[in-house]
Amino acid sequence: MREKYEVVIGLEVHAQLKTASKIFCSCSTAFGAEPNSHTCPVCLGLPGALPVLNGTAIEMAARAALALNLRINHESIFSRKNYFYPDLPKGYQISQYDRPFSEHGWVEIPTAERNDAGHAKEWRLKKFGITRLHIEEDAGKSLHEGLRESSSKSYVDLNRSGVPLAEIVSEPDFRSSWEAYDYIQYLRRTLLYVDVCDGNMEEGNLRCDANVSIRTRGSERFGTKVELKNLNSFRFVQKALEYEIDRQIAVVEAGDRVVQETRLWNEREARTYSMRSKEEAHDYRYFPEPDLPPIVVAVDQVARVREALPELPEPRRRRFVEEYGLAFDDAAQLVDNRATADFFEETARDSGNPKAAANWILNELARELKSSGTEITESPLKSDNLSEMIRMIDSGAISGKMAKEVLTEMCRSGAPAAEIVKGMGGGQVSDESQIREIAARVVESNPKQLDEYRAGRTALLGFFVGQVIKQSGGRANPRIVNEVVKEILER
Ligand SMILES: [Zn+2]
Repeated sequence: MREKYEVVIGLEVHAQLKTASKIFCSCSTAFGAEPNSHTCPVCLGLPGALPVLNGTAIEMAARAALALNLRINHESIFSRKNYFYPDLPKGYQISQYDRPFSEHGWVEIPTAERNDAGHAKEWRLKKFGITRLHIEEDAGKSLHEGLRESSSKSYVDLNRSGVPLAEIVSEPDFRSSWEAYDYIQYLRRTLLYVDVCDGNMEEGNLRCDANVSIRTRGSERFGTKVELKNLNSFRFVQKALEYEIDRQIAVVEAGDRVVQETRLWNEREARTYSMRSKEEAHDYRYFPEPDLPPIVVAVDQVARVREALPELPEPRRRRFVEEYGLAFDDAAQLVDNRATADFFEETARDSGNPKAAANWILNELARELKSSGTEITESPLKSDNLSEMIRMIDSGAISGKMAKEVLTEMCRSGAPAAEIVKGMGGGQVSDESQIREIAARVVESNPKQLDEYRAGRTALLGFFVGQVIKQSGGRANPRIVNEVVKEILER
């Protein structure tokens, strides 16, 4: 049934800019404070209070915009978006409308459909348009208690009121729920890279709404779109879209038409349900905000911000593949967060073995960090320790098996690899004469196996090698043991 239809999805992401103070007053933006303790006449919307623009919010918005290839308008203006809501005491939200901060952006990112187990099928690059990024203030928050009881109460907390947001509106370029998922992940990663948002969907500093419609494949006209809200995690976005696509196809297949409405995702019931139809939609009566001057961004300011941007995740992923010869998946995982990518590059350079560096970081180190619940930046293990360990493996001083123990100890104590190896009773034995001695002894004490080997049961080589390594306390270099044993057996 799916093949008959094309899915059209557009996304609106609200990212909280991580300024210390609000966008139009000096109140703190800190999360989790006593309700209404971070408020003043400006963010309470008291008559006569005047907003003053926070320059840091503009600078952060500029970083985000440039990272998403948006063009920053030389002059943009704030507008009032008028509507009534208990958590919006002014009766309007200061936002941007017809002259937004930035427009005409795009990202080109890896995306893949997933199988039922959630594994990516085949990664490919796809370009998605970004219509605009504009700046606005957040509203407050309503809390409801005992809604169905006669004693029900509602509370309003205005700590969030006036927190700066960047609203990032995409083109309707997504053709599946996984494309939408990969895009939001990339957006989050980019905002973290340029250090303008904490990117935590669960805490609400990154929020996503989606518009979704279906149309018969080949049709130019868009179908009726439904807006999805309440998507509090990346997976919810994907699951809600998937549910909604199936629902719309079922409606059309039954000969009905899709109604334009807003639907909420209910995670417990794993379905969307109607919140309100667009017939009741607001006309926001936007008009220019008279209390704030236009935002003017000079060309040289844009150039300065652009120059100070770090290398972004997708260009970095490509470079990791080209420069270090990494596999696509490994490179993608390493750039997932900037600290891990930095750690990898330091280790790759110091150790001279990028592939080993990637393997150790993505497997053993990732496991250690996960089990101890630490971030890579907090780990006692530093990149120069890991580099030293990789060099010791490459020179044959320790085996891969010993290295795992060394790594665990380095993660615990932060001690240098050589010191830990010494404490473990020495490194790998690569001294040929020492190995030859043990091998001779092993061969001598197993005459039956020796005869069988010489009679043609060459698979017994593994038996002898295993015995020698065992006798050496697991420290003999397996490559050398192999050579020496073979030589003795075939004498
Ligand atoms: Zn305030």
